[in-house]
Amino acid sequence: MFKEARIKLTAYYLIIIMAISLVFSVVIYKESTFELDRIERFQKYRSPILNEIRDRIITRLFYFNLLILGFSGTAGYYLAGKTLDPIQKNMEEQKDFVSSASHELRTPLTALTTELEIAIRDPEVKNKEILKSNLEEVNKMKRLTDYLLRLNKMENGLTDLEFKKVDLAEVSRKVIGKNKIQTDLDQTIINGNEDSIFELVSILLDNAKKYSKNIKDIKVATKNKTLIVGDKGVGIPESDLPHIFERFYRGDKAHSEDGYGLGLSIAKQIADLHGAKIKVESKVGIGSTFKVIFS
Ligand code: ADP
Repeated sequence: MFKEARIKLTAYYLIIIMAISLVFSVVIYKESTFELDRIERFQKYRSPILNEIRDRIITRLFYFNLLILGFSGTAGYYLAGKTLDPIQKNMEEQKDFVSSASHELRTPLTALTTELEIAIRDPEVKNKEILKSNLEEVNKMKRLTDYLLRLNKMENGLTDLEFKKVDLAEVSRKVIGKNKIQTDLDQTIINGNEDSIFELVSILLDNAKKYSKNIKDIKVATKNKTLIVGDKGVGIPESDLPHIFERFYRGDKAHSEDGYGLGLSIAKQIADLHGAKIKVESKVGIGSTFKVIFS
């Protein structure tokens, strides 16, 4: 991600510097040939020497621009690296913090779950409704820490996934189970990790269910190495679309639903790990279609 940003930044530096350099070159050429043109006009004939001087000015300006291009390209790349360095460090520190915090939280949360489960089963304990609600909240927190740990592992390339031939249609069928949704599942084989693909389909299908009123309006299709999950739900506003794959991003309408804004970031990571592209088309009030295109 940072390599891409560094190259982009270098390109921006280069565009600005080269635009300035080209403008100056034109001015220098015009200024220097102005006098030559005057001499020519005065002599009233085209002198070959003056033409040679003009050609020489153009050649020199060309080499001068080439030199600037090479120099500013190298310097720009170096400076872009220096500019992005603190941001990269900051992001890495942030990720490390999230990962350590999630790790540290897991043990007490597991202990809490066990104790709450024991207390709920104990006939002498009263106010079980409160304990059950506590257990639900603790389980939500555990799910959040699990999500964060998995996301971190994937982002840092720490997942040692076993890839083999996987049929997208078969995995989708397993995820769909007994859900009464529309399907159009053609066998389409890709090279991938079955568990991750299962998780990817689950995330897209869970979202479709979460953000649609009628489960019958949801459709899962597989063909030509592409997985398509479509719904006729609330849709995503255009201003949200560039952000929905970011960690913790939740649309305005999502706040009434359960979730942490991590599902689609995990889906994107899984797609990235498979070299697949994930695309979304959506209109508010009409619905959303997510496509994952494998190669
Ligand atoms: P979560 O669903 O937990 O909020 P996600 O990362 O799965 O987090 O999704 C991010 C945001 O994208 C959601 O908050 C929601 O605004 C939007 N979104 C995702 N899928 C859909 C969908 N099928 N229909 C409408 N909005 C969606």
